[in-house]
Amino acid sequence: MNKELHTMKYLQEKVDDLKQKGLYRTLPVNSGACDPVLELNGKKVINLCSNNYLSLGNDERLKEAAIEAIKHYGVGAGAVRTIVGNQTIHEELEAALAKFKHAERCFIYQSGYDCNIGTIQAICDKDDLLISDQLNHASIIDGMRMVKATKQVYAHSNMQELEELLKAAQGKYHNVFIFTDGVFSMDGDLAKLPEIVELAEKYGAFTYVDDAHGSGTMGSHGRGTVDHFGLHGRVDFIIGTLSKAIGVKGGYVACSEASYQWLTHRARPVLFSTTLSPADTAAAKKAIEILTEDDSLQKQLWANSKYIKEQLTALGFNTGHSETPITPVIIGDEAKAMQFSKKLLEKGVFVSAIVFPTVPLGTGRVRVMVQAKHTREQLDEAVRIFHEVGVEMGILDK
Ligand SMILES: *Cc1c(COP(=O)(O)O)cnc(C)c1O
Repeated sequence: MNKELHTMKYLQEKVDDLKQKGLYRTLPVNSGACDPVLELNGKKVINLCSNNYLSLGNDERLKEAAIEAIKHYGVGAGAVRTIVGNQTIHEELEAALAKFKHAERCFIYQSGYDCNIGTIQAICDKDDLLISDQLNHASIIDGMRMVKATKQVYAHSNMQELEELLKAAQGKYHNVFIFTDGVFSMDGDLAKLPEIVELAEKYGAFTYVDDAHGSGTMGSHGRGTVDHFGLHGRVDFIIGTLSKAIGVKGGYVACSEASYQWLTHRARPVLFSTTLSPADTAAAKKAIEILTEDDSLQKQLWANSKYIKEQLTALGFNTGHSETPITPVIIGDEAKAMQFSKKLLEKGVFVSAIVFPTVPLGTGRVRVMVQAKHTREQLDEAVRIFHEVGVEMGILDK
């Protein structure tokens, strides 16, 4: 027997290399719900780094809906949707989403990630051109990797480059697709959707907007970035997640009837993986009902994010050019950004550091994500700690 065989020496070497480079980390453990204040690794901290924008992740109404669904449908759907895993609750969620998004149809997946992987693979082919913004989310990139098509990338939000690519593609491909995030998650800036849609219509390209961070935060009642720009009916595929502002788990694509029908036959994560659990599905449906009736959580979210952005900017932090509730605090140096986040955590504020290669070299940052249910006192306390650490580290003058 080769004793070395099962020690996974080659992986241990990779892990050791991470440690050598200071890139090794352990997973933080949250012992409760993803609330505005939580207990992390046994210590109470102000939570400024979740995607639980509307605080729906621990909302009593959603929890009750999930419990009722478990009582009626069980804890698991029991199969993929194409066999017997398609329960009434899944159909109901899709109908509720389509109505909410003003779309012909919505097709649900087990996650936003699955949605990109499955949809892109199903709708694109080898004779197509796939054009992508440089800063698109990893799940778009992974989805594009699954297609044997020609791929081009344009510099972030550079409409001139996009137009040049579209112009050069004329007559050369079967279909041309433009892929973009609706909200870019590292800077919190919006895609230039009105221009993208204009260009797409001019050159006959399809548009695909991944609105994971825009779902529940942007547009009327959280209908998303496409709604924010008044572009209903002019974007061919709108991806949303149920895992961020909606507070649960899952993803969906808002699309045409024909797209829906094709996806039920070719979306591989739906064909080959068990469907969303009844509890997740019912909770997400409840969230959509709440958003439809009432936009007060969305208003609270925006008020909180505006407040913390103003406070941090006034202290002298560089908060970039965000147009959404995402607030980057740009430190610059990678190690310094990591150190900043570490010191904040020691004093009771949890924000994640984001560094190269996730963002360009020299733009290391922490990313502040508030929730609707953060109180003013909690935000003030967080700002006070930001100030203290900023001065201590020489990021702020005084
Ligand atoms: C978070 C995110 C996803 C993945 O969504 P999940 O539902 O968490 O899998 C996809 N695209 C973008 C742009 C995201 O920010």
